[in-house]
Amino acid sequence: MNSFPVGKNTKIIATLGPSSSDKKTLTKMIQAGMDVARLNFSHGTHDDHAKLIEMVRKLSLDEKKPITILQDLQGPKLRVGNLPESGIHLQAHQLIRLKRLPDDRFLSQTDSKELTIPLDIPDVTKDINAGSRILLDDGHMELLVEKVKNDEIDAIVIIGGTLFSHKGVNLPGTSLNIPGFTEKDKADLEFGLKHQVDAIALSFVRTAQDIIKVRDFIFQQSSFNQDLPIIAKLELPDAIHNLEEILVVADGVMVARGDLAVETSPSSVPIIQKEIILSANRKAKLVITATQMLDSMIENPRPTRAEASDVANAILDGTDMVMLSGETAIGCYPVESITMMSSIILEAEAHFKEWGHIYSPVSEGNIDDPMAMSFAAREIAQDRKVAAIAVFTQTGKSAIFISKVRPEVPILAFTPVERTYQRLSLYWGIHPYLMPFSKSLEEMISHVEKVLLTHNSDFSGKKVVIISGFPINAMRPTNLALLHTIGQ
Ligand code: PEP
Repeated sequence: MNSFPVGKNTKIIATLGPSSSDKKTLTKMIQAGMDVARLNFSHGTHDDHAKLIEMVRKLSLDEKKPITILQDLQGPKLRVGNLPESGIHLQAHQLIRLKRLPDDRFLSQTDSKELTIPLDIPDVTKDINAGSRILLDDGHMELLVEKVKNDEIDAIVIIGGTLFSHKGVNLPGTSLNIPGFTEKDKADLEFGLKHQVDAIALSFVRTAQDIIKVRDFIFQQSSFNQDLPIIAKLELPDAIHNLEEILVVADGVMVARGDLAVETSPSSVPIIQKEIILSANRKAKLVITATQMLDSMIENPRPTRAEASDVANAILDGTDMVMLSGETAIGCYPVESITMMSSIILEAEAHFKEWGHIYSPVSEGNIDDPMAMSFAAREIAQDRKVAAIAVFTQTGKSAIFISKVRPEVPILAFTPVERTYQRLSLYWGIHPYLMPFSKSLEEMISHVEKVLLTHNSDFSGKKVVIISGFPINAMRPTNLALLHTIGQ
């Protein structure tokens, strides 16, 4: 059977930044296979983000391709405050002092022995002890705490380097008692809701409660957005420990390998990645694999062989999405990075049957009706050799179930709700279509026919499986599967 529409199933998230903020580059990125635009609220002003949102929406219309806008909230990320533009040099064995400064100013040498570094963080001195490790700038520099006194931390430099303003601070092995959803996040989320972003990611999630707080905040702002997907970024050991509870309340998770490697160790990350993907797939939740996937393409037009393998292996692990960060935000080759990622995805997906793993929710033994219907649809599709599975969805929830059973035929998702249409690009294998509200099953079927026949008149006489909630427009979860022959 001719497969339609032809294309990759795994979705690509591209982080936007200076390298991808112009119309021409963004258009090419969409054409090369970008599905989701990630706006990183650790950087940029609200004005910058508003301009990007407007541009993505316009280009998505021009290109007739829904692009999901993912707002990535900074969360309780610890950072260095302002330093001189040239940075400061830390030398091994040097004594330094870290201090939360009210005015966030760099303190030059206060006496001849100690250099004071400002910290742009809540008061963490209660949670840190002598002997704790502090990592700076993604673990490039390391300090060992000697003494904690009032609001000051005295430490000795173990691995030196040049430290610049706003670089990340990680405290591996220290469990911090600070809010998981900060005042900055609230202001940013309010902005995101006003600008109708399609999904939210929260950084440095530790517990399910962090996600519940975000959901409550969204609900207080507007009940209209209560089904906005929320992704938990997993980058702390606490989050891995609490993974099962987090998966109950979040719509998805991100394997945020950058901070995760600093907080645990680079050698732990490959296995943690597999465990997270397996758990998310078992619970039918979205899963993103992120960070340094094609890192060398920030500077080079081609990736390393190891990077190509890394992307392919994430797909074979069963990820729904792969993410580009610096490659598209600040790199020299944003379009080439997406083109390369698309081709690695296509190649890996072509071999999924031999090498891939997808741990379906059925193995949990407690699947619900929509999941059971999705399995049934996949079985019928395989048995009757259908051309496609069509799913009707108002909220997008049915799309995730059919996507998670990984059928071998294209999945066409039809929705009359524009904000659902925008968010359907998050889901593995889903090809979204916007359609008018239908009053009957017959009307719905005629939309499927129109779309299929517009793309290829060969589909006349071919079978499709249609799944939907019934009665139509009653917002019911999927409870109906229908085998339909096009044109009959
Ligand atoms: C990460 O640490 O891997 C990550 C995705 O986080 P961010 O890019 O927001 O620092």
